[in-house]
Amino acid sequence: MVSILVVDDEKIMRDGCVRILGKEGWAVQTAASGEEGLRLLREDPFDLLLLDLKMPGLSGMEVLQQVKDLHSHLLVVVITGYATVETAVEAMKAGAYDFISKPFLPDQLRIVVHRALEKKALQREADILRQEREKGLREIAGEKSKIKTIIHCMADGVLVTDHEGHVVLHNPALVRMCKMETPPPLGELLKDCIRDVCLKDFVERIRQIREGSSVSQEVVVGELTLMAQIAPVRSEEGEILGAVTVLRDISMLKAMDQMKSDFVAMVSHELRAPLSSVEQQLSVILAGILGEINLRQKEMLGRAKERTHALLTLINDLLDLSKIEAGFVVQHKESAPISGVLKRVVEILTPQAEAKNISLTLQLSDVLPNVTMDTGNMEEVFMNLVSNGIKYTSEGGSVDLFARVQGSHLCVEVSDNGIGVSAEDLHRIFDKFYRVKNAQTRKITGTGLGLPIVKRIVEAHLGTVEVESQPGVGSRFRVYLPLEPSAKGEA
Ligand code: ADP
Repeated sequence: MVSILVVDDEKIMRDGCVRILGKEGWAVQTAASGEEGLRLLREDPFDLLLLDLKMPGLSGMEVLQQVKDLHSHLLVVVITGYATVETAVEAMKAGAYDFISKPFLPDQLRIVVHRALEKKALQREADILRQEREKGLREIAGEKSKIKTIIHCMADGVLVTDHEGHVVLHNPALVRMCKMETPPPLGELLKDCIRDVCLKDFVERIRQIREGSSVSQEVVVGELTLMAQIAPVRSEEGEILGAVTVLRDISMLKAMDQMKSDFVAMVSHELRAPLSSVEQQLSVILAGILGEINLRQKEMLGRAKERTHALLTLINDLLDLSKIEAGFVVQHKESAPISGVLKRVVEILTPQAEAKNISLTLQLSDVLPNVTMDTGNMEEVFMNLVSNGIKYTSEGGSVDLFARVQGSHLCVEVSDNGIGVSAEDLHRIFDKFYRVKNAQTRKITGTGLGLPIVKRIVEAHLGTVEVESQPGVGSRFRVYLPLEPSAKGEA
């Protein structure tokens, strides 16, 4: 309920106010002096004070002054006699909201009080809005500082860049891992902040992410091996706003992996020579050079030779992978046309395709700029993809190769209408030794190393490999290789 205090030394005025304002449903209290008024104001909060300026003892002006110190938001309407209009103006300057001159009509008083109470209600609403806004801002600031603290304390390095490659955010772990002497200034171009040659590829990757999807890449900085996960930051409309990179120190894992690879490489190497010799000797016996062999012997020796051959394939794949993992990949980079590589692969694998009555086609779009690559490695990539296509496609099917420019990349697609891969298996087929196990693949031999080799070689060329597949429909592998800067201009 609205509460009003009337402070006036004239009883008739006080009674008049109580009667007029009481009729409006407001609670009205009165005080006959400034001192009494102040005492009441100290005890209760009022919504409005009607204050006579001319009183014996404490004057209205003095009360007004003290009231403002007590309740800064209390609305005060001063009551003045004709002779004291100037004082009323003074009072307004001192913080009174309005004034009313004596004598006044009941309606005049009602209007003034209504106006003052409306102002009070508006003031209260504005206060609530302001408090809410301040609370919202405090919450945002709190959230911001929480996120900042979390990012600051993370063991992984975090780097955010905008769509032009300017540094937007980073944390101390990033500075430490990239061995930077000083943290990169916010707003600087990343390529100007990171000058370490080892990190050049990594910076280039971040630049390229603006055109593609997430990638992971190993980065070697001094004695550290880091795994960089680079992902685009998109707006709600899908527009790429920049990139967020998370760096994880995988040096320990890498060292253990290296020990394992060294061991595998050593064992494979030791096994290759004796196994090759066994295979050769079996071939000699099977060819009948050492004398006639009967059908049963031929059958058994044939199976032994087949098994030996599969083992040799595994050993060769293992050795290839160890070489790649040891960094012996993309050793002879040159600018060369992809068409040469693809034509050679098709030529080599055509007999294999023909043996299964599979049509193997190569389609090249008209303008295909050169790419910088190790042609030997790239041949291995497409040998693996096309031979998989032939292996995992039934008789009479088709395997098609198609190369075209797509944005700033050259895209080579190897598609087949073979057995396909289910969604559960699809994300694992690039893992080492992973082979899909089902009734259709049981009779197909393989090592589970072809696709990991493909992935590593493509990534060493700063490219990516993608796959789409559907069981019973077929598979489509796409290899993206970055175009040379001059070719990007042309494309
Ligand atoms: P593998 O030596 O077993 O062929 P890869 O690493 O080349 O090893 O392939 C891993 C697995 O992915 C294969 O075992 C196979 O199940 C599946 N795969 C690869 N390519 C294809 C394809 N074109 N069609 C269907 N499945 C495929």
